[in-house]
Amino acid sequence: MTEPMIYRLGEQDIPEAWYNIIADLPAPPPPVLHPGTGQPVGPDDLAPLFPMGLILQEVSGDRWIEIPEPVREVYRLYRPAPLHRARRLEQALDTPAHIYYKYEGVSPAGSHKLNTAIAQAYFNKAEGTKRLATETGAGQWGSALAMACQFVGLDCTVYMVKVSYQQKPYRRSMMQVFGAEVIPSPSDRTQGGSKVLSQEPDSPGSLGIAISEAVEDAATHDDTHYSLGSVLNHVLLHQTVIGLEAKRQMELAGEEPDEVIGCVGGGSNFSGLAFPFVQDKLTAGKQTRILAVEPAACPTLTRGSYAYDFGDTVGLTPLVKMYTLGHTFVPPGIHAGGLRYHGDAPLLCQLVEHGAVEAVAYPQNPVFAAAVQFAQSEGIIPAPESAHAVKAAIDSALQAKAEGRSRAILFGLSGHGHFDMGAFDAYLGGDLEDYEYPAEKVQAALTELPQVAG
Ligand SMILES: *Cc1c(COP(=O)(O)O)cnc(C)c1O
Repeated sequence: MTEPMIYRLGEQDIPEAWYNIIADLPAPPPPVLHPGTGQPVGPDDLAPLFPMGLILQEVSGDRWIEIPEPVREVYRLYRPAPLHRARRLEQALDTPAHIYYKYEGVSPAGSHKLNTAIAQAYFNKAEGTKRLATETGAGQWGSALAMACQFVGLDCTVYMVKVSYQQKPYRRSMMQVFGAEVIPSPSDRTQGGSKVLSQEPDSPGSLGIAISEAVEDAATHDDTHYSLGSVLNHVLLHQTVIGLEAKRQMELAGEEPDEVIGCVGGGSNFSGLAFPFVQDKLTAGKQTRILAVEPAACPTLTRGSYAYDFGDTVGLTPLVKMYTLGHTFVPPGIHAGGLRYHGDAPLLCQLVEHGAVEAVAYPQNPVFAAAVQFAQSEGIIPAPESAHAVKAAIDSALQAKAEGRSRAILFGLSGHGHFDMGAFDAYLGGDLEDYEYPAEKVQAALTELPQVAG
């Protein structure tokens, strides 16, 4: 076989600017509202939490935002990330479809999250921040930020969801090796955490609670800022290096994707891959199918409401308009596939509402089955999160086979699953249940949404 398996770019091909989709949206994004007053927040309201460099990116309407040279310098450790053609998987499926995947697991942190961690650490350091506080669920974000902070010389405090802290000790060690302080959440370090502990001493924690703790920590310490690994506009912006590279690599392969697929937790890896392709849909009339994949146990885009809600559980963050399952959402304990956030990135939600992006949800057993099939064909064990995209890509390739026509499918393989073997163990042992988030809970969450005029 002489056709390439991997389409590689050189270090000189690392993008020089991030792509900001706000410049090409059909309508301006709905304003972010102050949780107390219900009025739109301005840059100054965000200043206790973020450096101005990132706040300006958050609200910018410029289409291209330059990547600082020191950030590109760290990107060179692992970028450009490879684009693979999944030839062995295509053979295994006996499909006429061409399947491509952009592999972000080559980053030292094992996922795409380093793309924004480095940028956030850089802009904080540049403005004199001494410490970053953040939350982490499974630990991918915490390890990416811990490494980035170590590289630029910042202290790092990670509030780790308690159940993950207990179940994923090696992720915790990884953060500690990179120099971070890791605190199981809920903790008594913060008022928010103490309040949860007083009501429920054995609380397993949730991403929403951990966010509340990290935000409170940053808001109550002058030298400390907050850092978020997904959802926010500037995070999605930083992730567009994925799609910008993938576009050039697809050109090398001589194809345009008919379909771009990614998994969605908060929306950052998906948006990073997809937005440069959505641009062509919005501005050049391309018909590319853009598909977001989420777990049936946390079906934010497919079954949530498009409404204003808090980003955290306690209700400290600004209100953003997004698809949401309600900020009081607590994911079922049985769910092993990650992607547990109650909301999603507002920019992604706006594009789903507009119809430029479609969404689908899968239960976890078929997702893990797809992950195993992928690993056996391609040799990479996907992160359970990424496996949702794998499943959708396989389904699409099988549909192409049934229809007897070819199509080019591009999906995002956002990370490897080497720290998630416990979840694979559970799958192989037959211990995973498929769980559909109940309709009553979807309804009940609506009654807990904050009341916002308009
Ligand atoms: C964190 C993570 C996700 C989910 O977050 P998004 O912001 O939706 O990308 C997906 N895949 C991997 C490997 C992750 O670490």
